[in-house]
Amino acid sequence: MIATKGYAAQSATEPLAPYSFERRDLRPHDVQIEILYCGVCHSDLHTARNEWHGTAYPCVPGHEIVGRVTKVGSHVSKFKEGDLAGVGCLVDSCQECNNCKQGLEQYCEQVATQTYNSPDRNDGTITKGGYSNRILAHENFVLHISDKLPLEGVAPLLCAGITTYSPMRYWKVSKGHKVAVLGLGGLGHMAVKLAASFGAEVTMLSTSASKEADAKRLGAHKFALTKDPEQLKGLTNYFDFIIDTVSADHDYNMYLNLLNTNGVMICVGAPPSPAQIPAFNLIFQRRSVVGSLIGGLPETQEMLDYCAEHGITSDVEVIAMKDINEAYDRMLKGDVRYRFVIDMATL
Ligand code: NAP
Ligand code: ZN
Repeated sequence: MIATKGYAAQSATEPLAPYSFERRDLRPHDVQIEILYCGVCHSDLHTARNEWHGTAYPCVPGHEIVGRVTKVGSHVSKFKEGDLAGVGCLVDSCQECNNCKQGLEQYCEQVATQTYNSPDRNDGTITKGGYSNRILAHENFVLHISDKLPLEGVAPLLCAGITTYSPMRYWKVSKGHKVAVLGLGGLGHMAVKLAASFGAEVTMLSTSASKEADAKRLGAHKFALTKDPEQLKGLTNYFDFIIDTVSADHDYNMYLNLLNTNGVMICVGAPPSPAQIPAFNLIFQRRSVVGSLIGGLPETQEMLDYCAEHGITSDVEVIAMKDINEAYDRMLKGDVRYRFVIDMATL
């Protein structure tokens, strides 16, 4: 077994605290990674506090991982010791179903194994994530990381980046489209950068007036404060897409009438309570509401390569591991510019 140090939540109501545990010995297809940086996703907080229910404790969150390969199993062909490597939200899947064969491992028909809070497919132990000094994953679930970009800014691409890239590629967001991004946090700021890079006209819809200048610096062409109904009036029937990244319960209907005919609201934010949407808000203008879950492995590599080529990274505030609980509190207040990333050297 491999001795590992990390931070864990012991229950839904306790702060995260230092936690030592053991990871499995290397399997033939495993890559062992010494973690350098791990991003802090709002999903980590939802899970640590059991907001989605089903959290197994102790829970070690973290699924925006970059680091260096320290060991590889006997059958590994894609990585060698010393390589930079990334792990996102998945560490395994059945790799045999139709979705896995198409590189849509996130939609594995046998349910993919998440990086944390998921039963391991082989031994049933609960996976533990990137708030730790090392991790193991099957080589097919490990990503190649370019040395061209600062690693702390690359870590959030593994979840915030791919979660916004994937639906925009699926819906072919491009020049000529009017895209609204709802919520300027970790996912939202990546959505702005990526949508702008795809050539779309981007409007930031935010509850925080103080984020206007940043939204424009990140690539938004317009900004509307959603708390001010006057600012939304001129946007009725305006957008082709709304990318909803909001983490808290909110009224979806407030935004649906901003969609033009055939407009699509893409939900990536996962608030704890179900949405209430009257059919009439969809019937008129033939609007749709769709969801999207992270991205598969081939598309995640494609996104990382795209970002390396276009110089796209996350805007980060690097924190020490011990400051994670304060970071969670600030994230809840929308006070993150725009992703906290843990420097694992501080563990
Ligand atoms: P985050 O950094 O905390 O950003 C969320 C943003 O939502 C905030 O910055 C804020 O932006 C806005 N917001 C917060 N409360 C709001 C409210 N009551 N009403 C309206 N807007 C509000 O979170 P994140 O890490 O980007 O994650 C966002 C959500 O996506 C979470 O629910 C997370 O679990 C989910 N997620 C989903 C996937 C997927 O595969 N679909 C993957 C990763 C994460 P403003 O200040 O601009 O209003
Ligand atoms: Zn995430």
